[in-house]
Amino acid sequence: MSTFSVLFLAALLIATGMRLWLATRHVQHIWAHRDAVPAAFADEISLEAHRKAADYSIAKTRLNIAAIVFDAALLLVLTFGGGLQAIDNLAASFFPGGIARGVLFVAILTVIMSVIELPFSLYRTFGIESRFGFNKMTLAMFFADLAKTSALSVVLGLPLLFTVLWLMAGMGELWWLYVWIVVVAFMLFMQFIAPTVIAPLFNKFSPMQDGEMKQRIENLISRCGFTSKGLFVMDGSKRSSHGNAYFTGFGNSKRIVFFDTLLSRLEIPEIEAVLAHELGHFRMRHVIKRLALMVVSTLLFFWLLGVLKDQAWFYQGLNVAYPATDAMALTLFFLVVPVFTFLFQPLLAMYSRKHEFEADEYAAQFTPARDLIRALVKLYKDNASTLTPDPLHSVFYDSHPPASTRIARLEQLART
Ligand SMILES: [Zn+2]
Repeated sequence: MSTFSVLFLAALLIATGMRLWLATRHVQHIWAHRDAVPAAFADEISLEAHRKAADYSIAKTRLNIAAIVFDAALLLVLTFGGGLQAIDNLAASFFPGGIARGVLFVAILTVIMSVIELPFSLYRTFGIESRFGFNKMTLAMFFADLAKTSALSVVLGLPLLFTVLWLMAGMGELWWLYVWIVVVAFMLFMQFIAPTVIAPLFNKFSPMQDGEMKQRIENLISRCGFTSKGLFVMDGSKRSSHGNAYFTGFGNSKRIVFFDTLLSRLEIPEIEAVLAHELGHFRMRHVIKRLALMVVSTLLFFWLLGVLKDQAWFYQGLNVAYPATDAMALTLFFLVVPVFTFLFQPLLAMYSRKHEFEADEYAAQFTPARDLIRALVKLYKDNASTLTPDPLHSVFYDSHPPASTRIARLEQLART
């Protein structure tokens, strides 16, 4: 066994072991706190709702545990088990070389992985979400969504893959720089068309009706120094009773979207508070910062691939014959890098939680902090989000601060 094989196995073992350990802790922690509502929430959340949130979070985490084990096994089958090599041999029997072989290789692998993932996503939607009363989707809708997503990945993904493989083959030493430029341009393009072209394929977006709510929202938007290009209501209730609001797109495609499920549950002042929080993300430049982070990390990613692409040990260590196609280099890299970058996960989560605190602070300048607290408690309750996550699990994964910390911070702001 080569040094790199041992290194990869060790990293996979550590990452998988830590994921499982964190998930198990999470389940145990929630279970241990299942029978008492935390004091700060005792007035608003019943014991019954608290138990439902505990059971829902535990069910989701248990499915996640199964997925962690399964993903690790799949990765081993694809590499040491010779899976990737077999798929490449199959592709080569149709096209001996060139870009066509690479595209076919990626296509076969994508189809296989999507089929394997299907039971997980079916169980998530029709097992867990249905059991807890959140799912509103029918099987027909589920498969219609799947068909649309697949069609989109063919229409958008295939030309991108062709371009990337063409650049890898023809641009010499600095191919990774060209690929990076194309990939970043593609990501920006996707952000631009997501709200106006892609999202409407799945949901209906209606302009918000004139009335008190729209008036107050528009007032708030201009108080925060924004001009609203569009206020939309999305029929989220078609798929799920989970509620949300978001700010999407940029430039002329910028819009603010409210789920109908959110509007139906929150009072107007609470909706204003949630919106002020979202505007905070924009005003504090969180959106731009995340974009910049993505652009820089993509550059690092392709530069490293540029270094590894011509190293025999990289392929042979993962049981793939060298020399290999560019598509193999790309795929191997995509599959293997997350195993090594897993330990950066808490840093990313921490960065995100910092932004959430900042957006809350911003919201508290323009709307009463009490309104945001009321909105959050309602959202926690309606979405059955656990109020008692395992602290270490939270540090590792949570993009949002735990409910108790976040609300304690807002209560401080409400007093000042
Ligand atoms: Zn936020």
